Amino acid sequence: QAAAAQEQKLVVVSVSPQSRASLAVRCKLGLQDTAQRLTRFFKSVHYVFDTTFSRNFSLLESQQEFVRRFHRQADDKKSLPMLASACPGWICYAEKTHGSFIIPHISTTKSPQQVMGSLVKGYFAEQQHLSPDRIYHVTVMPCYDKKLEASRPDFFNQEYQTRDVDCVITTGEVLKLLEQEGVALAEVEPAPLDTMLGVPEAELCGHAGGGSGGFLLHILRHAGRELFGIREGSVRYRALRNKDFQEVTLERDGEVLLHFALAYGFRNIQNLVQKLKRGKCPYHFVEVMACPSGCLNGGGQIKLEGESSKEELQQVERLYESLRAEAPEENQAVRELYEHWLGGWGSERALQVLHTQYHALERASSALSIKW
Ligand code: SF4
Repeated sequence: QAAAAQEQKLVVVSVSPQSRASLAVRCKLGLQDTAQRLTRFFKSVHYVFDTTFSRNFSLLESQQEFVRRFHRQADDKKSLPMLASACPGWICYAEKTHGSFIIPHISTTKSPQQVMGSLVKGYFAEQQHLSPDRIYHVTVMPCYDKKLEASRPDFFNQEYQTRDVDCVITTGEVLKLLEQEGVALAEVEPAPLDTMLGVPEAELCGHAGGGSGGFLLHILRHAGRELFGIREGSVRYRALRNKDFQEVTLERDGEVLLHFALAYGFRNIQNLVQKLKRGKCPYHFVEVMACPSGCLNGGGQIKLEGESSKEELQQVERLYESLRAEAPEENQAVRELYEHWLGGWGSERALQVLHTQYHALERASSALSIKW
């Protein structure tokens, strides 16, 4: 029995804010309520975290990485445009089809899921006096591609023979789990929300800038401040072909200082890649996401058929955006972890823990044809 107890792992579930919004709409609950009831539902496991927390680190690292790349653009032609890295659907495509050409443009910052993996198996394991392999880490995500991301060799700890994220379940799979157990989420007792620093979370917060994480907006604001001293610039969004391909500019006295874009869905990604290949890509940064409408519309989300599906997506978007938006640098727990665990902003350790690498696979997979 003692051996069995020793073998038992500490189980941590990290829930994405997109999955929470999708479940909230389907179960007709508020976001806070959904988070608290999910925490109770999962409480046969030990801790339930929110990946909004790890996204703070992804946003901060992306901001700093962009400024570094901007400064090096004269010496390194591939430092810009910087392309977002949070979507594994896009990363897989880029590695398989245009690997060596595109990889230098892709931000090395880990996605919120994988930052959470590093936090749980790194910081949290240390706090619990456990080795990383003594924790079993499950994430709840809006898409199936996050399963592929978690299984990348880059996120496998050779020393302890363990993954940063051991198992990924989609939002739809959580709904199935609830149904199989005969549980109505609305009838589950709410529980206080866990946080990594041990102080229960009183109120859920989100990030500004849309359902895919707000990378574009956060990088734009930060770069405006750092590179041009602009605190309140005029930011203009302009839809090009459709709302999934937009140009965003930061302007001062009519002069465009930063030119960003958002490209969602493979058709728009293909256009972007063509622009890059022809040397006609005018952007400094592009938020690239494989799903049309982004992560709130991910393949793993709960969906109705036909017209009602559109309406449900709009409800999910509205609910998702209803949370108070917090700037990542203002989060006290994030500051504390940077200071005491990572050794400060921009430290070597932060680079090592919060960044990753990509691999050109085009030759190995030349027989692979991807259809859109
Ligand atoms: Fe997953 Fe789609 Fe979001 Fe990419 S855009 S991370 S594929 S849900």
